Amino acid sequence: MHYEGPIYRPPSEADSLLIQATVGCPHNKCTFCMVYKKGPLYRARPVKEICKDIDEASLNQGENVTALFFPAGNSIAMPTSDLAAICRYSREKFPRLTRITVYGSSPYIVQKGLADMVTLRKAGLTRIHVGLESGDDDILARVKKGTTAAEQINAGQIVKAAGLELSEYVILGLGGIQRSEPHALKTAGVLSEIKPDFVRLRTLVPKINTLLLHEIQKGRFQLLSPHQILAETRLLIENIRCHTRLTSDHYTNYLNLYGDLPGDKNRLCREIDRALGWDPGRFRAPFVGTQ
Ligand code: SF4
Repeated sequence: MHYEGPIYRPPSEADSLLIQATVGCPHNKCTFCMVYKKGPLYRARPVKEICKDIDEASLNQGENVTALFFPAGNSIAMPTSDLAAICRYSREKFPRLTRITVYGSSPYIVQKGLADMVTLRKAGLTRIHVGLESGDDDILARVKKGTTAAEQINAGQIVKAAGLELSEYVILGLGGIQRSEPHALKTAGVLSEIKPDFVRLRTLVPKINTLLLHEIQKGRFQLLSPHQILAETRLLIENIRCHTRLTSDHYTNYLNLYGDLPGDKNRLCREIDRALGWDPGRFRAPFVGTQ
């Protein structure tokens, strides 16, 4: 099995087999992300090489594999025919496979379009994990996400129209104190248009070697306190107007929230209201620039 550079996977893929399809991230500019800043440069691995890894895994654990994730940062960007080929090959080699997933940023999904997404679904891809981060254009531009709210909506709707499952990731606190309210409201608006299967919450933790940490240290970005993050989360949840599953399956969050919207909205708001009454010392440490 061959791995090159950092290998990240969503927590929901903790039990998935990881077969590397691409190396690095073709965008690699987000100011909050340190994962590939020191390389390696983005490239798609040759299909033959990936299939060798699939062969090796199938010899060792073929019957046990039910879920497969293809790292790295944006494997949706690899040529569609290559991604489809490795999906098909995996379906042949792992008889009990029920789920194949990748990370995919909105610009690459939109570039490929609906026909390619349908091709990938037919080849066996089941779910795409998209970093929405925010639905506010000012924030997306400031963090150099390389996309807009309109493009994120377009991408999400393409994925859903293709019959693929969709996880959208939101970073709480990404607008700082100044744009907390528009971050919550506009993100809720974008999610309501996309109607993803999952909304997955993360809380901003400024990482070492990121431009965002530098901005914080220079006083140009103000982090939210745990209570402000919770108030932002409440505003976000209150304003999501679609059926979706909300999870906060990440160590960065101050409160573990899990439920189906809109049915669990009132319960989730009550849980947040309770936590808003907690002493600040009860929340996790801030981890600013320590990771
Ligand atoms: S697109 Fe994802 S992996 Fe690439 S720099 Fe942005 S957050 Fe990091």
